[in-house]
Amino acid sequence: MSDRTPSTDTAHVTEAFVALYGARPDGVWAAPGRVNLIGEYTDFNGGFVLPLALPHTALAAVSRRDDGVLRLHSADIDGGVVQLAVDDLAPLTNTSWAAYPAGVVWALREAGHPVTGADIHLTSTVPTGAGLSSSAALEVVTALALNDLYELGLTAPQLAVLAQRAENAFVGVPCGIMDQTAAACCTEGHALHLDTRDLTQRQVPFDLAAHGLQLLVVDTRVKHALGDGAYAERRTGCEAGARALGVTALRDVAYDALPDALETLAASADEAVVRYVRHVVTDNQRVEQVIALLDASDPRAVGPLLTEGHTSLRDDLRVSCAELDLVVESANAAGALGARMTGGGFGGSAVVLTESAMADTVTKSVLAAFAAAGHTAPRVFPAIPSRGAHRVS
Ligand code: ADP
Ligand code: MG
Repeated sequence: MSDRTPSTDTAHVTEAFVALYGARPDGVWAAPGRVNLIGEYTDFNGGFVLPLALPHTALAAVSRRDDGVLRLHSADIDGGVVQLAVDDLAPLTNTSWAAYPAGVVWALREAGHPVTGADIHLTSTVPTGAGLSSSAALEVVTALALNDLYELGLTAPQLAVLAQRAENAFVGVPCGIMDQTAAACCTEGHALHLDTRDLTQRQVPFDLAAHGLQLLVVDTRVKHALGDGAYAERRTGCEAGARALGVTALRDVAYDALPDALETLAASADEAVVRYVRHVVTDNQRVEQVIALLDASDPRAVGPLLTEGHTSLRDDLRVSCAELDLVVESANAAGALGARMTGGGFGGSAVVLTESAMADTVTKSVLAAFAAAGHTAPRVFPAIPSRGAHRVS
């Protein structure tokens, strides 16, 4: 979909499937993109995250096949139908978009599930490469469709783990478990508290509209090249910090123990490691604070914690960029309750919490600030907490 506007109209997916493959699909499934409210760079430290599903979804029309053939098509990519043999699927051999759904077939088969082929037609309104997890939406919609068609009986969290395995091992992207779990497990009107260590999860009330609030996503439309190496460097730094503190992961450093931990590190570790540890431990604490406020029906008080989280990502982890900082500054200056970058940083998206009545003013101020700075106009849309993957028809 070129305009990436969320749509619940699935007739076009069925029609396109019929035009491609000559028969009606067995069914149509949907899986959403996501945005993380708070808890950044905590997932590879065994910590907490708090994503919500977006109304933007990947839709898949799918039919089962029993002859070992996998046919894949995306309405959003030029290049026609990709045909693969399920027996020949091998990790890191396919560098096109088709690796995401093919990786899911591979991961299911690797786990012993007898998937013998499929015809798949996909289309998605999740913006790609904006930190909103268009890749996980693609994986999870494929996983759910195959789970239903092959009656595998896997749960949503199990499908998420298999989808993550597809992305890690088959596509070759070292992502955590948050994206796939959010796409598979989120529910309408909630954010998902996920413990990335033991994978326990809880739906946290996040019905902002009922409180007269809105969460805006601001997609800066930039991606700075710095990002890839920086992610690996932060990861290594966090691991070094955990080792120096004698813990399995930074998740094990209690917030109250942070001053002592920082003192220990100041004597023995890199200056950067000290900053990374401070970010991870404080952001993990912020997730718990945000959840306590949401449970107490006090979502307005979440705003300052978002901004604190941004400051920590900017100054301690140093993964922000001029465009993301400008979103936060201009939104807050225009009266937003708080804002932060979300996702890996160096571009991608930010979230802004605002009174609904102020949303237009805040949006206009952010757009004006970008125009004045000479940046490409960002894309701004409300993050309405939506349902996770489901069968549509
Ligand atoms: P993100 O998940 O943050 O959007 P990624 O780089 O992880 O960014 O995934 C984006 C990739 O996912 C695209 O480059 C493409 O290969 C694949 N993808 C996403 N949406 C679609 C789509 N609608 N059709 C085909 N491929 C898609
Ligand atoms: Mg992705």
